[in-house]
Order: sequence, then structure tokens, then C-alpha cells
Amino acid sequence: MPEYIGNGRYKTERKEMVELIRQRGVKDENLLKVIERIPRHLFVTDLFIGRAYEDSPLPIGKSQTISQPYTVAVMTEALEIKKGSKVLEVGTGSGYQAAILAELGVRVFTIERHMELLNASRKVFEKLGYPIVSKCGDGTIGWAEFAPYDGIIVTAAAPEIPQALLDQLADGGKLVIPIGSMEFQDLHVVTRKKDKFLTKEICGFKFVPLIGKMGWQG
Ligand code: SAM
Repeated sequence: MPEYIGNGRYKTERKEMVELIRQRGVKDENLLKVIERIPRHLFVTDLFIGRAYEDSPLPIGKSQTISQPYTVAVMTEALEIKKGSKVLEVGTGSGYQAAILAELGVRVFTIERHMELLNASRKVFEKLGYPIVSKCGDGTIGWAEFAPYDGIIVTAAAPEIPQALLDQLADGGKLVIPIGSMEFQDLHVVTRKKDKFLTKEICGFKFVPLIGKMGWQG
């Protein structure tokens, strides 16, 4: 991302937000540096620019939200992703999570079910110069064309893990997905070891529902 675009503003607010995320237990300093660089105020609507550096989710339209920065940090850290690897994101929303992955040097593929949200996020990707590949569709069936992925991150909550996403995970890859009821979920971090899938849970999150063929029915 070129230095002159966007992130010259709100530097103090971003620093304070990152300090809060660090205090809450996120340890990956490279990731924290990236969060400190990304201009979150470009991913929210005009109405919420003044609140862009609060550690909270904010409305982005279509009854959806940009995720809380702490949650984005926990999910990204759980992916344990390396520069140059390939990641699928389900739920582009504002594009903030995808931008963080791109800034980490990851090849990002992202799917959003609302065209209006995708169009807005594509404009920001273009402005910031991120070569993120995106499409409008149902991410519960993954994106087979570019599989397998070293990481898959789902930013909406599902009742159970969609089989298609497990199938599209590379050997050694990780899938991070909130699983639970409509009200509360735990983050499931699934690591693929050949045909085995090992799951770790991180408790206590709240996401909007993953609506689709292998998610909640809309
Ligand atoms: N990653 C986003 C960000 O950084 O702003 C978070 C967006 S929000 C918490 C989750 C998004 O998932 C919403 O925009 C919603 O429309 C989208 N979504 C829900 N079900 C989906 C599906 N089956 N396929 C693709 N996107 C979906």
C-alpha cells in the first residue's frame, strides 16, 4: 500500500487500538504492525468514520458488519499463515480482513454474497493497490477453481463446518471458522494432516450468520 494513501491520518488512534489488541493477548508482532498500517476508516461508511478505531464491529450496510479489530487479529493469528501462501476468505464484507491478509503478503481470494458490499470493498482494494481476487456468490461451497488453499477464513458463523471447505484445504493448511448458534459461537481452528482434521476451539465470539447451501438458510 503506498504510504500517501489513507494511512497518514488517524495514526495515534490506530496505535492505541493496536495496543489494546496486544494487551488482550495477540502476540504476532508482524500482524500487529500490519493492523497499525491499514487505514480502517476507509472500510467503514461516512457515518462511522469517527468510530473506525474503536475496537468494535460497525455496520456496513445490508445488515452486515465490519468485524471487531480484536476478532480479526485473533482469526488471522490462528491461521498461522506465511508470506506467499494462498488464502480463501468467505465473507468479504467491508474488505478489511482481506486487506490485512494482502498486506501480510498472502494471495487472497474472497467471496461475498452481497454484490453491493463487494463493489464497495473492490473500490478500496483498488485504491490501496491490493491484487485481491474476489467474486459474488455462496462461499459455503468454497471456490474450487483455485483450491487447495493454505488457509481458509470464514468471517460469518455457521451451524457446522461446510464439508466443501474441508475438501478445499491443502495438507497442513488451517481453516478458521466460527461455529455455534445464531447468538454465540466458538472459533474452530481446523488443521488438515492428510486425511485427518484436528480441531482446536477458541471460545466466546459473536458473528453475523453464514447464509448459504452449507450454512444457515436465508
Ligand atoms: N471480513 C469482513 C470484514 O472484514 O469486513 C467481515 C464481514 S461480516 C462479519 C460477514 C460477511 O459474510 C457479510 O458481509 C455477509 O454478507 C457475508 N456472508 C454471509 N454468508 C455468506 C456466504 N454464504 N458467502 C459469502 N459471504 C457470506
